[in-house]
Amino acid sequence: MKPLSYARPRTQAEAAALVRRSPDAVFIAGGTNLTDLMKLDVVTPDLLVDVQDLDLTELTHHEWGTVVGAGVTNAGLAGDIGIRRRYPLVSEAILAGASGQIRNAASIAGNLLQRTRCGYFQDVTKPCNKRSPGSGCPAIAGAHRELGVLGTSEHCVATHPSDMAVALAALDAVVRVRRATGSVSALTLDELYRLPGDRPDRDTTLEPGDLVTAVELPAPTGAPSRYRKVRDRTSFAFALVSVAAMLKVEDGVAVDVRLAYGGVAPRPWRARTAEAALLGERPTDSLITQALQAEFATARPLPDNAFKINLAASLTRAVVRDLAPAQKAGR
Ligand SMILES: Cc1cc2nc3c(=O)[nH]c(=O)nc-3n(C[C@H](O)[C@H](O)[C@H](O)COP(=O)(O)OP(=O)(O)OC[C@H]3O[C@@H](n4cnc5c(N)ncnc54)[C@H](O)[C@@H]3O)c2cc1C
Ligand code: SF4
Repeated sequence: MKPLSYARPRTQAEAAALVRRSPDAVFIAGGTNLTDLMKLDVVTPDLLVDVQDLDLTELTHHEWGTVVGAGVTNAGLAGDIGIRRRYPLVSEAILAGASGQIRNAASIAGNLLQRTRCGYFQDVTKPCNKRSPGSGCPAIAGAHRELGVLGTSEHCVATHPSDMAVALAALDAVVRVRRATGSVSALTLDELYRLPGDRPDRDTTLEPGDLVTAVELPAPTGAPSRYRKVRDRTSFAFALVSVAAMLKVEDGVAVDVRLAYGGVAPRPWRARTAEAALLGERPTDSLITQALQAEFATARPLPDNAFKINLAASLTRAVVRDLAPAQKAGR
């Protein structure tokens, strides 16, 4: 058995220094993902640095936007009245995931930084480039129905499991990071998450000791929004495909459109090609189908997950049908 130490520092600088000092030290927040992976021997830290005394629980609303501390719980964020009024798709996305008990313990930073649910990654008896670089990716010829079609590589086809991150991508949220060196960065989700390329072991651009301190949401745009998730069961199941959609229609044409997808890529996938195709146009079923075809033109589907491309298109058509009439009716 590997010895394991636990530290509960009072300052962010101390916490960062502790993690930076040992290659096997990690931050722990709610522990709902980390301890699962420890029990499976997927991660084997020698030091857990608890973030709960680091003053990370701010949740404040401003004219320019909202600040959500990294230590706010998933349940606390989903239930906050300001979030429900200003960014309902964030609440919808969080409530579409996990369970009440897990959401009570899970933190915002932990949700963003949770690891993939690929079965080979979680099974230390199997090769996996993400867990053990250079060992291979058995998912490509094996079980990949739940895995990615966009942004994948020949080294890894895993998806990012977070629902909340998909909503944050649609909202153009920014993740605040206190670097181990003491400097502060603000990263978009595309800057936070890496695509696998030939280094699938690195999920993010963070370095050891970099502490996520908060997420900033820009002021609401007023565009109606929805989060919709397709999964195999209605609880304890990750997205096969999910969409966070925002759509404002004026005089029948889309004047503000945001689309982000979960379950299809190693990071929440902001569909900028599809958005550009829809902007200024009537969001008809046939145009949405064309826009999604353009978005998925670079997809690399595998035999058992190619269905995700059509599923993303039909999900988008359904969500747009929900959003567009809501505006005609003045809701
Ligand atoms: C049965 C089950 C079902 C689930 N279903 C869903 C689902 O449908 N959708 C979904 O989105 N999620 C789902 N989840 C995942 C759940 O949302 C995550 O486990 C949870 O959000 C992780 O948060 P945490 O605070 O417990 O993170 P932890 O487990 O404590 O940490 C996770 C990672 O984040 C790092 N970390 C934590 N805080 C910081 C910080 N401030 N700075 C830097 N690094 C940090 C840790 O080092 C670790 O690597 C499910 C989990 C379970 C167990
Ligand atoms: S898809 Fe990625 S996480 Fe899954 S087995 Fe392949 S390398 Fe590992």
